[in-house]
Amino acid sequence: MEFIDLKAQYQHLKVEIDQALAKVLAHGRFIMGPEVEELEEKLAAFVGRKYCLSCASGTDALMLAFLALGPEPEDAVFCPAVTFIATAEPAAMLGAKIVFCDIDPVSYNLAPASLKQQIKAVISEGKYRPKAVVAVDFLGNPADYPALEAICREYDLPLISDAAQSFGASLGGKRCGSFGLMAAASFFPAKPLGCYGDGGAIFTDDQELAQVLRSLRVHGQGSGGKYDNIRLGLNSRLDTLQASILLPKLKALETQEIEARHVVAQRYNKGFEGLLTTPEMAKGALSIYAQYALLAKNQPQRDHIIAALSQAGIPSMVYYPTPQHRLPVFKYALTCGNELQVAEDYCRRTLSLPMHPYLTKEDQQLVIDTVKNALR
Ligand SMILES: *Cc1c(COP(=O)(O)O)cnc(C)c1O
Repeated sequence: MEFIDLKAQYQHLKVEIDQALAKVLAHGRFIMGPEVEELEEKLAAFVGRKYCLSCASGTDALMLAFLALGPEPEDAVFCPAVTFIATAEPAAMLGAKIVFCDIDPVSYNLAPASLKQQIKAVISEGKYRPKAVVAVDFLGNPADYPALEAICREYDLPLISDAAQSFGASLGGKRCGSFGLMAAASFFPAKPLGCYGDGGAIFTDDQELAQVLRSLRVHGQGSGGKYDNIRLGLNSRLDTLQASILLPKLKALETQEIEARHVVAQRYNKGFEGLLTTPEMAKGALSIYAQYALLAKNQPQRDHIIAALSQAGIPSMVYYPTPQHRLPVFKYALTCGNELQVAEDYCRRTLSLPMHPYLTKEDQQLVIDTVKNALR
């Protein structure tokens, strides 16, 4: 059994993907070919944004966002403590001080109350200046945007949405990627919409920002063309080949896979009801279940389930074993003296099960039975 079965998906979409690749190989426009523009238009329409700029990875999408914001060493950027390192890394690399916040005990997303507490703590200490907030749609579950947007408005901070795990998810009928001043998507193969290599995109409704991002994507290019560099930037384009793969995959996501992922998640929910903590969505939130994560009673029980799955040849993962503020690289990040208890507890108890739109009922039943047996 595969944790995320990309081969099954390829078999399903083989004709379209093979044709798309052959077309690019024939026209030979490997950098910024016509498929890139077509994809950007379709991504923007799908998400419901004015501008979409594809780029080389989700990490680069966040890097481009922070290059556009231009943090300074006394600036503080607020992030949830449970996420992938790429949420905080670009801002940290550009010299901002990272301030970690706790997560919500039900949604596991950035907790608005903790965010507010940390912003207040930073302001009252007076050493750093709040600069931006990064919200993550954790494991595909939309962050609490109404509450986060209200806090960002109150403190006049831009909200950056790390939507790397949530392409295809929505909140109140609005798709993830449409929230925040800028939103970053990742097309890493294992994400809900993945290509066959690295890829990403950044979304915004701000025309001026879109222009800056476009320039930053190619070495800070100005209006005078390739050798008119007006700022320092990156080389961060999405390959035409990857764009051509994403086009049929986007169609499949929209027409079949979102629904299929929900069916798989509902089956797991039913299977584990009353036994383990299953994912809970806020009202109006539709997760894309980039991962299906359970919460065990405690760490020994979690580790016991993982061992039993492993023995049965079933892959499982832990997203994530360590909260960000415990990582060696973030030793000097701020927690403002707060314990971030929910984050610590979550990392000890979480485990993720095989989850993809082509998971068969039989395989899924085997996963459920194996976990249940381990709990007996
Ligand atoms: C995957 C991921 C990223 C980075 O995306 P890449 O395309 O791998 O660079 C950023 N944030 C989160 C939360 C992710 O899961």
